[in-house]
Amino acid sequence: MAEKLSPISVARQLHRHDLFYFTAPLLADLFHLDRRPAYRLIARLKEEGLVDKVEKGKYLLLGLEPERVLANPLFIASHLVAPAYVSYWSALHYYSFTEQVPLTVLVATTKKKRPVTYRDFRFRFVTVKPDKFFGYRREMLGDLPVVVADEAKAVEAKKAALAGISRKIDTEGLKDRLLSCFEDREFWEKTAAKCLSCGVCTFFCPTCYCFDINDEMVREEGARFRSWDSCAFSVYTQMPMENPRLEKWRRVRQKVCHKFEFYPMNFGVIGCVGCGRCIRLCPVNWDITRVLDSVPAAAQS
Ligand code: SF4
Ligand code: SF4
Repeated sequence: MAEKLSPISVARQLHRHDLFYFTAPLLADLFHLDRRPAYRLIARLKEEGLVDKVEKGKYLLLGLEPERVLANPLFIASHLVAPAYVSYWSALHYYSFTEQVPLTVLVATTKKKRPVTYRDFRFRFVTVKPDKFFGYRREMLGDLPVVVADEAKAVEAKKAALAGISRKIDTEGLKDRLLSCFEDREFWEKTAAKCLSCGVCTFFCPTCYCFDINDEMVREEGARFRSWDSCAFSVYTQMPMENPRLEKWRRVRQKVCHKFEFYPMNFGVIGCVGCGRCIRLCPVNWDITRVLDSVPAAAQS
């Protein structure tokens, strides 16, 4: 029986039933198959690129419009475990309560489940007690059903996240303080003393965007490459006749002032989202929050 079913006709039937996510037993039921023939049929569907495995025994129908499913991690998240709903930062992003795009989809569930990685998506599951499992609803996203925390629950999650922030920077008057101490070489030398100019903080910073362009020969043909660059490197500002930031303190000053002085002056926002990656990943624990706290008060004009 399974051999008589063509993969494309099976994909069409799954599509007709809106089964963009299915398990092997469900497919077996739908097509009146035993377990083994059902798995053989799934193998053929996979060979044809019509379905893809997310987890053991769980599949996505890619069909003829794979982007519909693959562009919708919330749809995938809503099916990885039951009961479950997309929550926390992912729900905040869904309601546009945050500009930050979470790299991991966070899912609330009453079950215990290990994180799942599928293609470029990461899913993390937070186990909640059954009496806390409420405040969610079904929505349609990109024509696919998702289960997501309701707005009140998302706001509650935001308040809890904000309450959990233990380190804060006083940005009041910071731009003016940085402007005032721009020529304070002693302050900047002290600030830059332990920095290794490794560039890690800038490569992992979500708001740093500097890049370099290089022309190279590849298999006897010219090719142009773009790669990340960093103002922490002394060659970053190398010019034919001079290098205005040869000394390390000038480069550290640039990094700090770019985010907290020049960016606010030009665009009215601070160029730092407070993620803390630069602190966590710095090999010598250079801490931008301490630097900002130590900026001297602005000189009175
Ligand atoms: S990661 Fe630390 S040591 Fe490396 S450039 Fe940044 S501040 Fe300096
Ligand atoms: S805390 Fe600010 S400066 Fe540091 S990595 Fe995050 S956005 Fe960049």
